[in-house]
Amino acid sequence: MTMSLPMCAIDFSNDAMGPEETAIAERIAELKEQMGEDLLILGHHYQRDQIVMHADLLGDSFLLAELAAKSKAKNIIFCGVHFMAESADILTSDEQNVILPNMRAGCSMADMAALPDVEVAWKDILERSGLSDPATAKEGDSCLIPVTYMNSAAELKDFCGRHGGIVCTSSNAEGILQWAYDRAGPKGAVLFFPDQHLGRNTGLSMGISLDKMAVWTPGQDNQLPEDVKIVLWHGFCSVHKRFTVGQIDAFREQHPEGLVVVHPECPMEVVQAADANGSTEYIRRFVADQKPGTHIAVGTEINMVARLDSQHEDLHIQCLEPTVCPCSTMYMIHPVYLMDILERLVDGEVPNQVIVEMSVQKGAKIALERMLSIKQ
Ligand code: SF4
Repeated sequence: MTMSLPMCAIDFSNDAMGPEETAIAERIAELKEQMGEDLLILGHHYQRDQIVMHADLLGDSFLLAELAAKSKAKNIIFCGVHFMAESADILTSDEQNVILPNMRAGCSMADMAALPDVEVAWKDILERSGLSDPATAKEGDSCLIPVTYMNSAAELKDFCGRHGGIVCTSSNAEGILQWAYDRAGPKGAVLFFPDQHLGRNTGLSMGISLDKMAVWTPGQDNQLPEDVKIVLWHGFCSVHKRFTVGQIDAFREQHPEGLVVVHPECPMEVVQAADANGSTEYIRRFVADQKPGTHIAVGTEINMVARLDSQHEDLHIQCLEPTVCPCSTMYMIHPVYLMDILERLVDGEVPNQVIVEMSVQKGAKIALERMLSIKQ
């Protein structure tokens, strides 16, 4: 199906490649071939097609973390955002180089949980709730377990590792929260960073009611219910926050038999109004399972929606938000940057290497490896 272009006027189709883009793509392919097995290019689903076409492996942040951990390639180019490259650096050996094509490709959600704010909140919540820090708890204590979404800085993952906590992704959030509650004790709770929506949606799907949840915003007069089960850091994804129930209603009016699938970073009302919700890998499988001719509105990043549309010619796939733009930081990975990185690698340089300090690596690795060791 040909997808109508979003209002932000960026052409997401592969057909957009003119002579210049084709020359860049050919040069990247040549350089890749020269590097052979020394090179692995990882691509996140939210990358544009002109990047994805060069990726050896494509996946969401969970799958890419696993693939990076298993890889033996000397140079791993991570076509995603900074926190993903940090996780790859933590999980790979000291001899491997993890490279981000554009060092400015960060994540606004990850930036919403700065470590100094987290440390202040941690002390405050422990004091007010009477819960123990798992790092110093005595047997029988009820604890506060810190859980951070993969979409967070290495310093926050380190914090979680040092305080008996763990990392999660949108693929495994429920299993990870269960792991945390099993360790927290009957009266224990979870402090969930940085995406309040993923935390709330996952908590609700586990049967935790809204009156047992609290949102924590640094510098504000935060309230905790007496028997709080999950404290949600106030962060959010600026891309997924744009989806609304009104958009779902409008789609259903046009396509009463149609289906809506959204990412759990969307607000609770949107997740509840959709037919299904899950990680990018889940959304891919959900779409692939539908009957030919089905109309599907997808609430996630536009590059992925456009790619699903071009891969399923027998379905009618559209983005839930008609005016949506791509994740602006994912979009900073341009093929020109990828080509430049490869030219420099072939010349013997190691540009844009993402290096997580050893002092931060230790706790972050514990938190990441705890996640990877849990079978989903
Ligand atoms: S889509 Fe949202 S969470 Fe993902 S990198 Fe972009 S801003 Fe961050």
